[in-house]
Amino acid sequence: EYKLELKGICKSFPGVKALDNVQLSLRPGTVHALMGENGAGKSTLMKCLFGIYKMDAGEVYLDGQKIEVNNPDEAMKYGIAMVHQELQPVPARSVAENLYLGRFPTKNYGLLKVIDHKKMYAETEKWLKEVKMDFDPKAQLGTLSIGQMQSVEIAKAVSQQAKVVIFDEPTSSLSDNEVEALFRIMNDLRDKGVAMVYISHKMDEIKRIADDITIMRDGTYVGTWPASELTTDQIIAKMVGRELTNVYP
Ligand code: ADP
Ligand code: MG
Ligand code: MG
Repeated sequence: EYKLELKGICKSFPGVKALDNVQLSLRPGTVHALMGENGAGKSTLMKCLFGIYKMDAGEVYLDGQKIEVNNPDEAMKYGIAMVHQELQPVPARSVAENLYLGRFPTKNYGLLKVIDHKKMYAETEKWLKEVKMDFDPKAQLGTLSIGQMQSVEIAKAVSQQAKVVIFDEPTSSLSDNEVEALFRIMNDLRDKGVAMVYISHKMDEIKRIADDITIMRDGTYVGTWPASELTTDQIIAKMVGRELTNVYP
């Protein structure tokens, strides 16, 4: 039984058919790599799932129930969290404000007047510890490195206690140590039964972390395989749509 299923997803932008009948099935407690060349439609598919884009056609099922996700607030209510490819932090705000308030997608900082600050700092500290990050919750986010900011985004997604977590190229600005920390977090989430989508071009990462691989090409669904069944060359061939020719025969 699948935890989350996307079926027949279509999405066009003016002049581009970004998604044409794409499917994806996520199993609980697994990391599902979503692969494809730049522009294949990976981010668009995840933004449709997260309610950032309205899909033109297609269905989403969560535990067999059809759901409609019209915006990120609704996605979070269904237990879906997303670490975006484009960083979305507010540098002038504290780590705690980004992590705690960032979970309300409207980023309503008016909430700062009414929320319990002690609780905000305490909870932020708890979640940072949970993901083994040692930032001061009161530090201004803008004083951190890009990798540290991305790590706060990751902690934010984890703190939502989601059933499904989408990681869209999360490691592009992470140091080696930060990548290791992320993989530890992902392995913990796997043990807790969370279904994850992992978008990355880095083959060594895919080999280490992925259980399943879905490949997309030019907005279409190519197929899904157990990660252990595909070699790097096979993955690349499916991404580009032809066998690789050996340059040095
Ligand atoms: P990937 O994440 O696989 O690199 P994207 O989902 O970002 O690919 O993009 C898929 C296609 O849709 C590309 O041709 C891209 O230019 C187009 N696209 C994505 N987002 C938009 C948008 N907001 N407006 C117009 N075109 C878009
Ligand atoms: Mg891209
Ligand atoms: Mg993308």
